[in-house]
Amino acid sequence: MTGMPSESKVDSKITKKLREIVGENNATDYKHIRYAYSYDLSFVSPKLPEYVVMPTSVEQVQEVMKFANQEKISVTPFTAGTNIGGLCIPENGGILLDMKRMNQIIRIDDESHYCVIEPGVSHAKLASELAKLGLRWSWPVGPPSASVSSNAICHGIGGLSGRYGLNSEEITSMEVVLPTGELVRVGSCAIQEDSWHSCLPLPRVDGLFTGWLGTTGIVTKIGLRVHPMPPVLKVFTASAENIGDLATYMRTLGNYEICDDITGVSWWLSQVPIPYPYKPKPDDAPEWVSFATTFSWTEKEKQAREEIWQSIMDEQTKNGSSVKSTVYPEEALRARTQLPSQIVGSTKNYTKQAGAGISWPGTFTPLNKWEPVYEQWKKILVERNLSPSVRVTNYRGVHYGMLRAMIPFPKKTPETIENARQAIVECLKVDLDAGGIPYKPPVDFGLEINKRAHPGYVELLRKTKKMLDPNDIMNTGKLAL
Ligand SMILES: Cc1cc2nc3c(=O)[nH]c(=O)nc-3n(C[C@H](O)[C@H](O)[C@H](O)COP(=O)(O)OP(=O)(O)OC[C@H]3O[C@@H](n4cnc5c(N)ncnc54)[C@H](O)[C@@H]3O)c2cc1C
Repeated sequence: MTGMPSESKVDSKITKKLREIVGENNATDYKHIRYAYSYDLSFVSPKLPEYVVMPTSVEQVQEVMKFANQEKISVTPFTAGTNIGGLCIPENGGILLDMKRMNQIIRIDDESHYCVIEPGVSHAKLASELAKLGLRWSWPVGPPSASVSSNAICHGIGGLSGRYGLNSEEITSMEVVLPTGELVRVGSCAIQEDSWHSCLPLPRVDGLFTGWLGTTGIVTKIGLRVHPMPPVLKVFTASAENIGDLATYMRTLGNYEICDDITGVSWWLSQVPIPYPYKPKPDDAPEWVSFATTFSWTEKEKQAREEIWQSIMDEQTKNGSSVKSTVYPEEALRARTQLPSQIVGSTKNYTKQAGAGISWPGTFTPLNKWEPVYEQWKKILVERNLSPSVRVTNYRGVHYGMLRAMIPFPKKTPETIENARQAIVECLKVDLDAGGIPYKPPVDFGLEINKRAHPGYVELLRKTKKMLDPNDIMNTGKLAL
C-alpha cells in the first residue's frame, strides 16, 4: 500500500500519564500498533496517531478527555474503523481512543422494545442476543464486527430503513463524555437515571452528537429502539433495464409501506467481487436488480402483500416498463435477510479484485433525482475505468433514499488512489448540485458541502462546535469548517 504516514512526535511523559489513567496495558505509543490505526479502506491519506488508548470505563474516558483538553491533544474516537470515509484517521495525530473494550449490553427490554448498550457492542453480538428474544435491529450490510452505536450516531442505515428510517431515528437516549471531560445525558435517562425509553418530548439535544462524526463528544452508552421479528419472510425480486423504470417501481411499491427494505443494485454491484477495472456488463443481463423484503405474522398477511406487489407489477407492465419479476439465488436472498451477513458483509468481497481500496459517494437523494444523477455518475466512473457499482434504497417511505456507489480501487500507486478520489468527488458534486446530501462525509466531501451551505448554517456549526469543544481537540478537521 502506498502513502505511508509520516512519523509523528511521541512524548513519553504523555504515554505515562495515559497509562496511569487506563492501566499499563491499555495505552501505548508503540509504532506497529499506531500504524494499524493510521489508515482505512478509503482514498484518505494515512496519518499516525501518537498514542492509542483503550478505556474500559466511563470514568477513564472522562479522565482522558480532561487531560487531553488541558494539554490540547487531539482525540479521535474509534470503534472498528469501518466507516470508509477516513473518519477515524487522526488528521492531527494525538490520541486514538479505541472504545472497543467498553462492550457490554446493559439491558434489553423485551417488553418496551429497546436496548441499552456500550459503544463497543458489535452488530454480531447484539444480533445474537436479540435473536434469543425474537427481536431485531436494522442491520447494515457492513462488517458484523462494527459498532452498533457508531452506526446509529453516524446516521447509518440497515435492513429496516425502508420502514423505520435511519438508525439514528431509533436512538432513545444517550450518555456522552464532552470534549472537556464532563458527563452529560440526553433523552429520558437525563431525567430519570434508569429510564432509557425516549428522546422525545424533550428538546432534541441528542442531535448535538448525531451526524457530527465524533467531533462533539464520546458516546459511552446509547439506548436504541428494537423491533419484533415476524416469522414469515417474503422477498420480492425484480429486474429493470434502466434506472428510470427501477425508480418508478420502487416509488410505487414504497407508497404502500409494506416493505422493510426496498433496494436496487446495479449489475456491477451485484457481482462478487465488484469488477475492477471497469468491464461492460453482458448485453443480455439487466442493468438493475431489486429486492424488497417483507416480514408477516401469518401466511394470510403475506398473501395480502403478494397481492399488492402483483398489482404493482401488472401496472408497471401495462405502462410499458422494463421491470420484470425474477428469481434470486437462495444464497443471495439469505445474505439480504439474515444480516449481519457473512456473505455480503465480508469486505474482501468488495475489495479483493481491486487491491485494498474502497470508497463511495454515499448520499441521501430524492427518488426523482436518482435517474439523472446515476446517468452522470456512470459516465464519470466509466471514463476513469471504475465500476458504476451503485445501490439505491428507499428510506421510510418515498421522499428520499440512498444513492450510493461502492467503488473498489487499487492502493498500489498514488495515481490509482488519486484517480478514485477525483472520480468520487466529481460524482459527489453532481449529487450535491441535484439536491442530494452525502452521509459519513470524508473531509473532501465536507469541503464541497460547506461551499454550498447557507452561511448561517456554517456559523451555527462553528458556534456549536466551539461551545462543546472550546480547544478543538475532538476529531479535529473532520467537519471541514
Ligand atoms: C463493506 C461495507 C459495507 C457497509 N455497509 C453499510 C451499510 O449498509 N450501512 C451503513 O450504515 N454503514 C455501512 N458501512 C459502514 C460501517 O461499517 C458502519 O457505519 C459501521 O457501523 C460503523 O461502525 P464502526 O465501529 O466501524 O465505526 P468507526 O468507523 O470506528 O467510527 C465511525 C465514526 O464514529 C465516530 N465514533 C466512534 N465511536 C464513537 C463514540 N463512542 N463516540 C463518538 N463518536 C464515535 C468515529 O470518530 C467516526 O467518526 C459499511 C462498511 C463496509 C466496509
